[in-house]
Amino acid sequence: MAIIYPLASSSKGNCIYVGNQQSGVLIDAGIGIRAFAAHLALIGIPPEAIKGIFVTHEHTDHVKGLERIQKALKVPVYGSKGTLKRLIEKKVLPPFAPMQLAEEETVLSGCSVIPFATPHDSEQSQCYRIRTAEGTSAVVCTDLGHMTDEIHRHLLGSDVVMLESNYEESMLAAGSYPYFLKRRIAGLTGHLSNLDCAAEIRRLYDEGVRKFILGHLSEENNRPEIAYANIVETLGRCGATLGKDFELMVAPRENHGKWIDF
Ligand SMILES: [Zn+2]
Ligand SMILES: [Zn+2]
Repeated sequence: MAIIYPLASSSKGNCIYVGNQQSGVLIDAGIGIRAFAAHLALIGIPPEAIKGIFVTHEHTDHVKGLERIQKALKVPVYGSKGTLKRLIEKKVLPPFAPMQLAEEETVLSGCSVIPFATPHDSEQSQCYRIRTAEGTSAVVCTDLGHMTDEIHRHLLGSDVVMLESNYEESMLAAGSYPYFLKRRIAGLTGHLSNLDCAAEIRRLYDEGVRKFILGHLSEENNRPEIAYANIVETLGRCGATLGKDFELMVAPRENHGKWIDF
């Protein structure tokens, strides 16, 4: 059995493990090495299990700990051409760091990682679908301004979907962020709101997906209990009961051992 374990997920730092006890991959490395090691040790996954680090894009909350984590794990960093270029330009990674292009399927220890492009205000962002050797699959999909049919197709048929639920619209509107930043977040290449997330989860539920993780919550413009209730209510309206018909978890800002298996 495989797990999806968000070691950390928020606008401040993102790092997600997908795999089993023996092998898996890391999606993003936006936390410090100490937090990384501590959160991984909590659930008994050995660092050697990680066969590659797949980066979604070059924003700091996704790559803050990348250089040190890569050096500790001694595995390649994967990403789109644009993201890898920006990682060097921003000096996140030295030019000689082991990097591999991941614009098509990559297979590592029987685990296949399929990228798909996302609309986000970065060089060339993408997210990933991970299929285990057993044939089950999980998707990590955060940092996108809006859903597209192509992204929806990549989420379909997954055993578990981790989807961005970044902000509550009323909190963003009433919050302290400057106007340009509010527009950026709510724009077509910003982030998904709780409402956007619920609309997509509703579609996915109708098409058979049963396990969901809400990710990349804003600390300023969201609350875990609001995002959670939003999905419970949305799926409740179509007759689905939490625990019986679907599983739901909010990825914590810093995780202390919560995961979903698939
Ligand atoms: Zn982010
Ligand atoms: Zn971003």
